[in-house]
Amino acid sequence: MAYGAHRSPLLPPRPDLALARDCEQCLGWGTVVTRDGDHELCHLCQPDPVTDEDTAASGS
Ligand SMILES: [Zn+2]
Repeated sequence: MAYGAHRSPLLPPRPDLALARDCEQCLGWGTVVTRDGDHELCHLCQPDPVTDEDTAASGS
């Protein structure tokens, strides 16, 4: 495997499987696969993670 050939996507922080359990979007996985093939937290059942970008953007 050639790691570093492309930007490795951020692995999703642990999805809350309890929340994902009844979710039809991610089918209980807590993550969904984007068109780019990346995994990301399911937006329907997982709470939005607080990103550093938000923090940086709001603090002027
Ligand atoms: Zn979900």
